[in-house]
Amino acid sequence: MSLFAGQGGPGERTKFHRRYNLLSPLGVIFLGLGIAVFSGQGSSQTARTMAARRKAMVADQIAARGVRDPLVLKVMSEVPRHLFVPVDVVDRAYEDYPLPIGEGQTISQPYIVALMTECLALKGGENVLEVGTGSGYQAAVLGRIAGSVFTIEIDGTLARRAATTLERLGFENVHVRAGDGFFGWPEEAPFDAMIVTAAAPEIPPALFAQLAEGGRLVIPLGDAQTYQRLTVVTKRAGKPHIEQVLDVRFVPMTGEILKKK
Ligand code: SAH
Repeated sequence: MSLFAGQGGPGERTKFHRRYNLLSPLGVIFLGLGIAVFSGQGSSQTARTMAARRKAMVADQIAARGVRDPLVLKVMSEVPRHLFVPVDVVDRAYEDYPLPIGEGQTISQPYIVALMTECLALKGGENVLEVGTGSGYQAAVLGRIAGSVFTIEIDGTLARRAATTLERLGFENVHVRAGDGFFGWPEEAPFDAMIVTAAAPEIPPALFAQLAEGGRLVIPLGDAQTYQRLTVVTKRAGKPHIEQVLDVRFVPMTGEILKKK
């Protein structure tokens, strides 16, 4: 993009076109550079369009519904959600609904990502656990606020894909593991905050055990076939304090938790 910068104004560029035949070897090189510049401008145009959509998403879907935490609003307007979804749905990345991410799973509606993040009441620097990495988008949002994020995904394909996306975008404090989040991530406990982004019939005991004193766990609790209550569990003097936030619909948590019934 900066290739033409410093090469003078439009007058000089016109001169350059007159002097070189585009089919000469040098001309072909310049043509190639021109195409590179043009496509570079295309992607920065896309980035601008997506940033504008993100801003509208935050205003119309998130702030308008009552999410107030300035850190959450800031991060939601910065993390490029369109880079976490499959190419065929990129154009819908900032719409007001969940989207398919492959392997029968979905990325949550932007408002729900913002609301769950707000429920964690992060101030910055915390150690956070996520169960249900999916696309990696929620983990990225958390990663922009917290000190470190450990996220577990039961589907190996999704885990690998999310790890690649997060690495490519430079989220060095977000760590992905393929496995069953039912058991938490004991080596990295205690966690100041935890978020489960799949519907669970109950709080997995290992998660509560790995929650720090005063820490918060956000989880959709209830029947996976119908709807769940988005629940905030705070650990006070080793005991769970429960607060219900909103009715939600999540894909089911699978693995060990299903064997418990
Ligand atoms: N947070 C994700 C969306 C999650 S969808 C995002 O931002 O894109 C829920 C995810 O939870 C799915 O990818 C599903 O495979 C995963 N999941 C279900 N049960 C799980 C378990 N026991 N451990 C870890 N991940 C699980």
